[in-house]
Amino acid sequence: MLKLHPSIDNGFPPASPDFQGGTLKCKCATSPVTVAVGAQTAHNHACGCTKCWKPEGAIFSQVAVVGRDKLSVTSGSEKLQIVDPSATIQRYACKDCGTHMYGRIENTKHPFYGLDFVHTELSDETGWSPPGFAAFVSSVIESGVNPDKMSEIRTRLTELGLPPYDCLSPALMDAIATHIAKQSGALPA
Ligand SMILES: [Zn+2]
Ligand SMILES: [Zn+2]
Repeated sequence: MLKLHPSIDNGFPPASPDFQGGTLKCKCATSPVTVAVGAQTAHNHACGCTKCWKPEGAIFSQVAVVGRDKLSVTSGSEKLQIVDPSATIQRYACKDCGTHMYGRIENTKHPFYGLDFVHTELSDETGWSPPGFAAFVSSVIESGVNPDKMSEIRTRLTELGLPPYDCLSPALMDAIATHIAKQSGALPA
């Protein structure tokens, strides 16, 4: 059986109504970095890009967003470092185990400014929003996946209820384009 991601391969439960978030923990056995997320996440999805953190052996990451005001580092902040300071999304990773704890956008003009990117599988709580689509699917080839596997991968994602896209989902691509059009004046702000 094709392995995409441990939290995705066997299907996933629906979100719990009234879920209020939980605590993300890095993989360090002692003194882990902990991050409190004080809300349900949105836009959870499988991502095939080469930048998102993936658990051991996974082809895809699983990544969602939450308002940056809902996220706080509750311990181990001294172990966090930005993976690539020049990237649009500043991904804060644990120096010791490499787990990405959250990604943040500092450019206030960016369509996703105000949202932090998180991997909710790092939490012991259940009830998080499940993934709803797969983004940047073709990019898994850049991580070394054989291109001959792509048809099988897209079929499996569809079977799991995750429509595969080679960029973001149509809803998110439309949101980005709308933001850009309002900034340029092509649409009224
Ligand atoms: Zn760690
Ligand atoms: Zn990604």
